[in-house]
Parts: sequence; C-alpha cells; structure tokens
Amino acid sequence: MKLGFEHTYATLPPRFYARVEPAKVTAPETVIFNRELAAELRFDPNMDDRQVAALFSGNELAEDSTPIAMAYAGHQFGGFVPQLGDGRAILLGEIRDNRGILRDVQLKGSGRTPFSRGGDGRAAIGPMLREYLISEAMHALRIPTTRSLAVVTTGEQVYRTEILPGAVLTRVAASHLRVGTFQYFAARGDQEALKELLDYVINRHYPEARNADVPALAVLKAITARQAALIADWMRVGFIHGVMNTDNMALSGETIDYGPCAFMDRYDPQTVFSSIDLGGRYSYTNQPGIAQWNLARLAETLLPLIDTDEAKSVELATGVIEGFVEQFETAFLAHMRRKIGLVSAEDGDADLISLLLAAMQKAQADFTLTFSALSRAAETQSADAALHELFATSADVDGWLQAWRARLVLDPQSPAERAETMRLANPEFVPRNHRVEAALQAATAGDMQPFNRLLAIIQRPYDRQPDAAEYTQPAPASDEKYKTFCGT
Ligand code: AMP
Ligand code: MG
Ligand code: MG
Repeated sequence: MKLGFEHTYATLPPRFYARVEPAKVTAPETVIFNRELAAELRFDPNMDDRQVAALFSGNELAEDSTPIAMAYAGHQFGGFVPQLGDGRAILLGEIRDNRGILRDVQLKGSGRTPFSRGGDGRAAIGPMLREYLISEAMHALRIPTTRSLAVVTTGEQVYRTEILPGAVLTRVAASHLRVGTFQYFAARGDQEALKELLDYVINRHYPEARNADVPALAVLKAITARQAALIADWMRVGFIHGVMNTDNMALSGETIDYGPCAFMDRYDPQTVFSSIDLGGRYSYTNQPGIAQWNLARLAETLLPLIDTDEAKSVELATGVIEGFVEQFETAFLAHMRRKIGLVSAEDGDADLISLLLAAMQKAQADFTLTFSALSRAAETQSADAALHELFATSADVDGWLQAWRARLVLDPQSPAERAETMRLANPEFVPRNHRVEAALQAATAGDMQPFNRLLAIIQRPYDRQPDAAEYTQPAPASDEKYKTFCGT
C-alpha cells in the first residue's frame, strides 16, 4: 500500500538523521483512529482497523515510506545535551494535506533507534493516549499544535515503575524541526549543515524570508513572532507545557511534545505539575521568559548566518530576542481583554486585568470557571452569584465587578456581540487533570468509554454542553496535589 509520502527531509545529508525501521510488534490493535485527521491527510477513508493497526504500529511499512530518526540536541532544564535525537520516534514520511501543506507523519514508541541511549524506544498506552487527548484538546481550543492520528497497542509489555501495555502514537506535525535541531549542528561547528538546515526551514515554514535582506534574521524574527503568539495562547487557557526544553520547541510554532503538561485549575502563577520540575523552571508564569531564553539559544546558532561581523550579528539578533517581550505582552493583553469582554482598548485595562488576577490568586479561584462565570455575568447580573461562589467572600470580587461594568459601558459591543466574544475566548471545558487520569486508568485497564466521552467533550471546548456540566468542575479540594510524570 502507498500512503502518498514525500521525503524532503531525507534528501538532506545523512548526518541529519539515521535510517531505521520501526520494530515489529506481536499483536497490534487499534485503540483510537482520528478519521477526521486521516481525511485531512487524504488517506483512504475505507482503511479498516486491521490496516490502521498494521500501518500505525510500524508492523507494515507503506511502500512509499522511508523511515528515519531525526538528529537533534537540546537544553534540558538549562543543561546542554549535544546529542538527543529521536530515541523512540520514527518519521515515516511527509504528506501533502488537503490544504497543500506538507505534514510529518511520525510514530512514537516504535522501538529503539541510534539515538535511544539507555531507553527502550517504547511507550506505554497511558502517556500516548494522554498526548492524543491533550493535543486534540489544544487543536479544538484553536491553539497551534501537533495532531494525533492514532494510538495502537502493541500486544507487548513495557517496563516502567509498573508493567504496562505498550502502544504506539502516530503524531502529525507541520514538521519536527526544533530549536535543538539547529543546536545539534552548532555544537559540532558544522556551518554547512546549519546553512542547509536554514534553507530547509525557509522553504518549509518561512518562504517569505527567502527574499529578506538577511534571511537568517528574518527567520529568527518569524519564529519569535510565532512563539510569542503561541505562549500567549497557552496562557489564555491556563496551559502549562511542563518541559519547555529547547528540543521541545518546534520551529513551526506548534505546541509539541506532550509529556507532563496540564491545565491549571486554581489560579496561581507559580503552578507546576511536573514531578521532575523541582525548581519551578517551567511554571505557568515562567513560560514566556523560558520561551525567550530558548529563542536566545536559537539565535546563538544563527549568528554566523546573520553577518560575518560577529558583533553586528549579536546586535541584530539581540534586537529580535528583546522584541519578544513586547510581542508576548501585546498578544496576552489582547487575549485577556477578550476574556473580560472587551474589543476596545483603554489605558486602565491592564490594571483592571491585574486586579482580577490578583483577586483570583488570593481566592485560589479556578481559572477556567472564573472566566466562564464572567461570560455569564456579562449577559446578566444575576449570574454574579456563580462568581461569588468562586471567591472566599463576595467582597473580594464585587468591587472588581463594579469597575468592570463601568468599563464595559465604554466598549462598543452589543450584549449579544460581547457574549460571543467572551464565549470564544473562555473555554467551558479543558481536560481537567482528574478526568484525564480517570480516563487513562480505565483505558489502561481496557475500558475506552471514559476516554471517548472526555474526548468528545473537549473537542467542543467553547460550547455549553448542559449534559456534561460535571466536566466543568475541578477535582474535589480533598484530592492530593496533582502531579504529572514525564510521559513514558
Ligand atoms: P522528551 O523528554 O520526551 O522530550 O525526550 C527527551 C529525549 O529522550 C529524546 O531524545 C527522546 O527521544 C528520548 N527518549 C524519551 N523516552 C525514550 C525511550 N523510552 N527510549 C528511548 N529514548 C527516549
Ligand atoms: Mg522531546
Ligand atoms: Mg516526550
């Protein structure tokens, strides 16, 4: 069978990747297949479960597949590792989708590669379904992200702290190029490779940079702009990536690598869920600063391609990296304005927003619930009661509500328009941590019903779904503090 694969990355020199075949598995079985995404990729709509299981476990290679593992490096929690690479992922090929965009199709958990180091190259069903669910939630929230095409169990066991069913996730991405891909060649002083990589990135993601005065600088600017927009989008919905290493930052501007990520419940800017992030490096509030830090690491690799005069390169690149702060803040403020129902701008808006966030923090109010309650309060003042419940005393929020309503008067939207603005800025449904855990536990035990129900709900995050009201609620306060583990 042919799937329509192209192989642009495999035309790069051999040191960019390793050719490697996915491991054969004993009993592949389809757990979930994303038919809507398959249609986008123009795969045969009649593919049956057996074919899906064979192709997306790696047991059967499409005739036109040229499987490779990509080389990359990366800063992990601030420390540089000169060689990481796809240790358990294999790129099957690239597909031109129904909009003409080239997308990578990659297996994750499909066996060892030359980049596996001490790892087994495998994945357990829980973390793969977790990536499927959260990436699809992000997509439905209209946030740029890699997508998930399939999860197939292998019929084999993987050995973690427990013995777990093995699985393979098929991930679809605009590409899997990362900040760490540039770092890999920069660390080796391989100027030729850096140039080829830059050309490839321009052709694939930033064709408009080709005719710029300094293409390397134009690419850095464009990547910086996409990251500023992306992180502002994460912050808008309370998403915490959890492991923003430079190898987990995609040059395309998509969210990538769903390991210990989670959505914040109680509003606290210092929130961290990852059990391995002891210093809080990747906390909610640190995300823009870390993104900028990662972009500075990217800029360093590009310096020789910007200008032969190093001092001039540094000056130009520094200007771009410094510009990140304002781009992020502008994007974030625009989101927050919409979250409180404003499409106009007044001087005091940033303060008004800060006051709300401060009150939320003091009350440990639920992030998602506060803004959905605010959407309702914009429609009718009788909905203020729901807000009062989220704060310790109504006095903590009543003063703010008064100032907010005084501000709304200056905004040009009709009540119906404002309701729509707020609905689309404030999701009702995010994948709540306790729901995700319950769904994954049931799935690991062989029951997909809770997972499928949760998936169906989070695929319509902005719709009020009265029959799913309990999914808007956070875990009972009695639950232990939630921790996520690096997806394996
Ligand atoms: P991550 O923490 O998922 O961003 O992965 C960091 C690095 O570890 C990457 O090079 C991965 O390919 C590699 N890696 C993660 N899990 C495994 C595994 N089970 N076997 C081999 N390599 C792995
Ligand atoms: Mg990674
Ligand atoms: Mg990972």
